[in-house]
Amino acid sequence: MNSGKFDDRRAALLALREELEGLAATNAQDRKIVELDQQSVGRLSRMDALQGQAMAQETMRRRALELKRIEAALARIEDDEYGYCAKCGEEIVSARLDLDPMAALCAGCAR
Ligand SMILES: [Zn+2]
Repeated sequence: MNSGKFDDRRAALLALREELEGLAATNAQDRKIVELDQQSVGRLSRMDALQGQAMAQETMRRRALELKRIEAALARIEDDEYGYCAKCGEEIVSARLDLDPMAALCAGCAR
C-alpha cells in the first residue's frame, strides 16, 4: 500500500485536475462570450476569429495533455513509482517536482 509520502503531491495533483476540469467545463461558455464580442465589435476580421478559434483549440489540446500527465502522475503515486525517474530510476529531486509535479524524468534524462 501507499506510504503516504506523496500525500501532499497527490492532493496538489487532484486540485490541479479539478481546476483543469472546471476550466474545460466553462470552455463552451467562454466561446459563446467570444462570439457575442465579435458581433458587437464588428471590425474583427474573419482572420481574427479563426486565430481565436485556433488558440482555443490549442488551449483545449494543452489542457487534455496536462490532464493525461496528471492522471499518469497519480497512477505513479498509486504504484509507488512516483518521484523516481521513469528512465534511469534515480530519485527526482523535490525541487524539480515542486516545479513540475507531473515530472516523470529526472533533470538529466529530461534534457
Ligand atoms: Zn533519469
